[in-house]
Amino acid sequence: MVQYSIIVPMYNEEAVIEETYKRLKEVMDQTRESYELLFVNDGSRDRTVEIVSRLCDSDSNVRLLDFSRNFGHQIAITAGMDYAAGRAIVVIDADLQDPPSIILEMIGKWKEGFDVVYGKRSKRKGETIFKKATAKFFYRLLRSMTNVEIPVDTGDFRLIDRKVADVLRGLKEKNRFVRGLVSWVGFRQTSVEYVREERWAGETKYPLKKMIRFAMDGITSFSYKPLKLATYLGFFLSGLSFIYLLVVLYQALFTESTTAGWASTVAINLFFNGIVLILLGIIGEYIGRIYDESKDRPLYIIQEVKGGASSTREQAP
Ligand code: UDP
Ligand code: MG
Repeated sequence: MVQYSIIVPMYNEEAVIEETYKRLKEVMDQTRESYELLFVNDGSRDRTVEIVSRLCDSDSNVRLLDFSRNFGHQIAITAGMDYAAGRAIVVIDADLQDPPSIILEMIGKWKEGFDVVYGKRSKRKGETIFKKATAKFFYRLLRSMTNVEIPVDTGDFRLIDRKVADVLRGLKEKNRFVRGLVSWVGFRQTSVEYVREERWAGETKYPLKKMIRFAMDGITSFSYKPLKLATYLGFFLSGLSFIYLLVVLYQALFTESTTAGWASTVAINLFFNGIVLILLGIIGEYIGRIYDESKDRPLYIIQEVKGGASSTREQAP
């Protein structure tokens, strides 16, 4: 069994991956303990696989999991955890936004007896104001909506103990929000602060569409509150309607001005239809996820496993 597994999810990261390898190797060699660098290729369409493949040939600490297509960042991390052989497992982005040197601090905490050491971003460099603002809003929204203590401003850059990974492997949900699941399982958790660097090269692989999907997964995996919105709004609007009903009755009985305008009718109609559609959409999000779970397809498909002097655990799912 190796001591440390470093999981690196990659999607079209040809511009950085060689540098990432070098820096990870430099840091991990300092531990003087055994380790594996487990690169997960999430369906890249550039030269990422080629490069990592070559690294596999030249360095027996490097392993490659190659997906048959793009399954998403969270699934890539999950696969990494399934295949990791280490006693401690670290997840780190491929783009060097998470500084590899922090891994040593995480290892220090792990040796003190913590089971989960997550990286907390004290500062984010080189990201757009929009990204920072939406991220900040999202983490706070998530916190206010869920009962699980998901720490704000932490990503998936973290170290987890073998036993935590084994528990995570048993959680079979399809729409995975890994950082939430890690909080949910408990154990002794602590954090180390770090400054999130600029992407070393290349562009973000998280366009707005993926970010929204990610946020939806986070919220729906850990909260029913959006569904309750229907109930609250229902009560609120019924209350308002009742008051308006009284007004209408008063007008009809005691005044002459009963032919109220067409505009108000249309406005009310549009407004209520809008609300009904939003609520249907929310319900749809949940039903879609129930559907995903019930299909019971595998989370990911691997076309090739390479490297690592076949120090493999019994093969994952
Ligand atoms: N990533 C992935 N699959 C995807 C999108 C991203 O494996 O579909 C990886 C990506 O290669 C990187 C990490 O997830 O290692 C974080 O992505 P990125 O740095 O683009 O996101 P950002 O830091 O901009 O939020
Ligand atoms: Mg990044």
